[in-house]
Amino acid sequence: MMHLNLGAKAAGGLTILCLGSHSDDIEIGCGGTILRLADQHPGCEFHWVVFSAIGVREAEARQAARLFASSRLKGPLLKTFQDGFMPYVGGEVKAVFEKELKQLSPDLIFTHNGNDAHQDHRLISELTWNTFRDHFILEYEIPKYDGDLGQPSVFVPLEGEACQRKVRHIMEAFQSQHRKPWFQPDTFLSLMRLRGMECNASSGYAEAFYCRKLVM
Ligand SMILES: [Zn+2]
Repeated sequence: MMHLNLGAKAAGGLTILCLGSHSDDIEIGCGGTILRLADQHPGCEFHWVVFSAIGVREAEARQAARLFASSRLKGPLLKTFQDGFMPYVGGEVKAVFEKELKQLSPDLIFTHNGNDAHQDHRLISELTWNTFRDHFILEYEIPKYDGDLGQPSVFVPLEGEACQRKVRHIMEAFQSQHRKPWFQPDTFLSLMRLRGMECNASSGYAEAFYCRKLVM
């Protein structure tokens, strides 16, 4: 399998927009890729948006963004939409895209998978495509009870150390989620191990994404 890279602009600094419905979505979905990009391209900057970061989860989202993006972090922009209700206040969510995000011109955008089983995730994905119509968008995956994992098309191999660092940051930042039986290092490592196998990663680990449009 031939590997593509991000091209010459990556060396000078990429503007990367990370969008997540809830605290912990960005980190679970593409945290390893963010760590790899930050390691490989020191000039990149990360714009970080979480649409539901309420109470303790606001502080957790802030801490996690710092852990993952460190000094390359712009923001984060944290909103307080109620978990599970975003499609029902879709106009207000869209206004955030129109008024606070549209002026950005990111080189790369991470957002939710458009076929995700969670209604909030689907809305953020749809509004990403509504707003950024001539941009490079990768849609990440989130494991969940609904069992909506599919067949992604883009794979980012990750070193084992980066995977361990991703999981360590997630467990450290999102203490309020430890009570959920699935919120364990094994869950996150298992998915990365399977995606790593599927792309024949030398380390054995990868994150995977859905890509609707790619220009070479
Ligand atoms: Zn979520």
